[in-house]
Amino acid sequence: MSGCRCGATWGGANTSHCARCHDSFSTVANFDKHWKGDEHRAPASVGLVLSERGYWGAPPPTPEQQEKLDALRGAA
Ligand SMILES: [Zn+2]
Ligand SMILES: [Zn+2]
Repeated sequence: MSGCRCGATWGGANTSHCARCHDSFSTVANFDKHWKGDEHRAPASVGLVLSERGYWGAPPPTPEQQEKLDALRGAA
């Protein structure tokens, strides 16, 4: 478990917390998305959505994408 001076705590090896905007991210990849080089972006402006658990992450798949995922799983 890690903590920040803003009072946020988070667990897990993949989740990360931004010391600039003090938002937490479900994965390091999603954290990286809101930085463009040295430029800081609002998570929502790069297509991330806030989950019920308070982590920014990729939006849930659309029904069409979900269908493709299901098809891939079925084929595996
Ligand atoms: Zn940030
Ligand atoms: Zn913080």
